Order: sequence, then structure tokens, then C-alpha cells
Amino acid sequence: MKRSGKRLLIAGNWKMNLNRTMAIDLAGEFATADLPTEVDVCICPPYVYLDAVGIRIHGTRIQLGSQDVYFEPPGAFTGEISTSMLSDVGCDFVILGHSERRNVIGESNELINRKVKAVLNAKLTPILCLGELLEQREAGKTLDVVQNQFDGSLAGISAEQMARIVLAYEPVWAIGTGKTATPEQAQEVHSDLRKIMAKCYNSAIAQDVRILYGGSVKPSNASELLSQADIDGALVGGASLDSDGFLQIIAAGRTAATV
Ligand code: PEP
Repeated sequence: MKRSGKRLLIAGNWKMNLNRTMAIDLAGEFATADLPTEVDVCICPPYVYLDAVGIRIHGTRIQLGSQDVYFEPPGAFTGEISTSMLSDVGCDFVILGHSERRNVIGESNELINRKVKAVLNAKLTPILCLGELLEQREAGKTLDVVQNQFDGSLAGISAEQMARIVLAYEPVWAIGTGKTATPEQAQEVHSDLRKIMAKCYNSAIAQDVRILYGGSVKPSNASELLSQADIDGALVGGASLDSDGFLQIIAAGRTAATV
């Protein structure tokens, strides 16, 4: 049974894929689709296509997200992008702490924490990713890992700020691998995250903050995952590059939101 009044969010992370024409065309497929009003939808193209994709989806229900940001205001930070630049091109969401940034690029909780604060200060919405490696799950450390990432990435965040954050539980072993957490495995961690929020903040925040699941979500598994009580949407990588597949996941969100 879903928690009442929760709007699901389906976010597509395009990662480092597509070219300009492909990105605009894909955005166009969503812009012209008949999207269910019960579900929030966001697409997150690479930085260089944010502007063009933002123009293509302007005036539709689709929101724009960035895959990352730098925490400093504009200045001498070669190669980086500021929150003001993201606002300027129409972003609403910013993915932070994605496992590829934590584990491939080497981002620390401390750096992610500075980014969370910068994004909140810019009145954008962070989608903060948390999740364990396969060896950590096999060693029974999943809860310790997500607790550590939660504490470190959200250090100094007030209750009022926490209420504006979206969390995404993304087990690293399920990202881009075709292996999905079972609905029970995902639900267990989502429920644990609500307990962490209840302890660190309060029960209203624990209930109200949206927690997305990410890790090989596709049309064939979306319904079962999205119908779990504590799963409020999905962060979709590979399957968000296929318009039919992503639209089917959005439709599964609509069904989960209305049963
Ligand atoms: C992601 O990019 O956050 C992700 C979950 O990727 P995939 O759906 O491809 O596993």
C-alpha cells in the first residue's frame, strides 16, 4: 500500500550518452507524449545539451535535471559548472553523489555535502544518491554504508532543508549491470532510510521525503518496484535512453500511484 498523497518522480539519467541531435529528438519524444498527470518526470542530459533540451521541453510537464554541479559560485574553476548556470538554463533538479561520481571519479561525502548545500541555497532540488557495493552487501554492511553516506553527505542540513531533498537508493551492484534489487531488498533499504530520517529529523520528514529506487529499472520490473510502500519513484539510467521504455516506466508509475 503506497503512502498517501505521495507524487512519484521518474527521473532519467542520460549519463555521458547521445549527441546534440539525438538529445533534442529524445526530449521531443517526451515533450509530445501524453504524460500522466499523477507522476512527475525529469530528464537529466549531459551538461552541454541542457540548454537545447531545456528549450525543447519548455512549457511541458517535464522538468530538467543536471547530473552534477560544482559548489562554488562562478569564478576561476576551470571545467566546472555553477548552480547559477543550471538555474539559467532552466534546471529544477541536480543529481548528486551518483555512484559513478563516488566510485569512478572519487567524490567524497564531504565534497557531496558542499554540493548539496550549494544546490539548496540556489533553490534547486538535489537528488542525493546512496548505495552499497556488492561486497558491502555480501558482508552485511548495507545499512552501515547508507547511514555513513547519509550522515556525511547531509552533515549540517536542517530539517527545513531536508524536506526539500529527494533521496535515491541505488545499490551499486545493480547500476548498469542488468541486475536489479528485488522489490523486497529495495523496500527494506527504503524503509531503513525512513527510520534514519525519523531519528535524525522527525517522523514527518521520514514520511514526506521522496526516496527513488535506481539500478537497472526497466519496463519489465518497474511496476513491482514502484508498488512498494516506501518507493516513491525511480532514477533510471540505460532505460531512459529509449523513449518507449521510459514512457512505459512512467506509465507503471501512474498505475502504482493510483492503486
Ligand atoms: C543510474 O544511472 O542512476 C542508473 C540507475 O542506471 P541504470 O538504470 O542503467 O542501472
